[in-house]
Amino acid sequence: MIRGFEDKIDIKSLTFLELQELIKDMGEPAFRARQLYEWMHQKQVKSLDEMTNIPKSLKEKILDKCTFTHLEAVEIMESKLDETKKFLFALQDGNIIESVFMKYHFGVSVCISSQVGCRMRCRFCASTIDGVERSLLPSEMLEQIYAISRITGQKVSRVVVMGSGEPLDNYENLLTFIHLLSSDKGMNLGQRNITVSTCGIVPKILALADEDLSINLAISLHASNDEKRKELMPIANTYSMAELLSACRTYFDKTHRQLTFEYSLVSGVNDTLDDANELSHVLEGLNAVVNLIPVNPIKERSFRPTDRRGALEFKNKLEKRRINVTIRREMGRDIDGACGQLRRRALERKRAL
Ligand code: SAH
Repeated sequence: MIRGFEDKIDIKSLTFLELQELIKDMGEPAFRARQLYEWMHQKQVKSLDEMTNIPKSLKEKILDKCTFTHLEAVEIMESKLDETKKFLFALQDGNIIESVFMKYHFGVSVCISSQVGCRMRCRFCASTIDGVERSLLPSEMLEQIYAISRITGQKVSRVVVMGSGEPLDNYENLLTFIHLLSSDKGMNLGQRNITVSTCGIVPKILALADEDLSINLAISLHASNDEKRKELMPIANTYSMAELLSACRTYFDKTHRQLTFEYSLVSGVNDTLDDANELSHVLEGLNAVVNLIPVNPIKERSFRPTDRRGALEFKNKLEKRRINVTIRREMGRDIDGACGQLRRRALERKRAL
């Protein structure tokens, strides 16, 4: 059973089966497991106090053995341009993470972090500048969604694991998280509404292909050949594009889920029409969607985004070669929208004190 804060059993990270086992070990009737699971994952309450039909004696037993993970919002920033909201949450050990609430025509999408920091060192990304502190527990990933739902009063219809951290570098916890999030006794979010984004850890992509899930996989590609990819993403030194794309093909063959390739357009680095041409060849036959995102400049690096016209030309070139392309709507640019920027600012403020 997963352990959390103060090395106690992390009750919100337990699967229903594990919770049943725990309740049995405590000498309690079996139906209590279902009640507890519903309070945690359906009603998504903030504390045990709110569980009105659970006896005090059981709550005491739980508090003795378990930790009840919850997040405190330490800052909420609201965009004036759209309804995007960024949340800074404090974890129980004092670490800080960020999550994003985005409103689309289909409903609400929440972007969550999977680690405190990141160790992948992509050159344009703010999350990775100080490396990784630790991976998040399944409960800490869930709580980002539950807390945002509680605070905004809105139902979350899509979850993207695209915040700080590399989800496939936190593989087991990610799987438990997906299982809990999509469980019919819990929030019951369809796996088709869950997207996991990876910088491309090949063995983990292959493992994920065998998990029998129907989640969406997004691959951060950002270049059309190894040389350019290595300039932007150190992971490209470990796995070549050929290996990565072959793993993607395997993933698609096994899951039949359409793949998304993310491509941050960086002016003068990966945004020429030759790059677009090469990209279209590399992706041939993969039935993929390319998501173009003008790079969000961070102050620690000098990368500049491709302008609107350049992005449209890049898109047209890909479309001519029959690649499906979208240009990502930039959300909340006025509130430090890029991955990890808000957390970094908060850390800088803390260090300055
Ligand atoms: N580690 C995972 C998920 C987190 S990053 C991954 O690499 O996919 C989520 C996405 O945001 C990735 O595509 C990442 O490359 C991109 N990203 C990070 N910083 C960015 C920035 N400053 N501008 C544009 N995209 C950025």
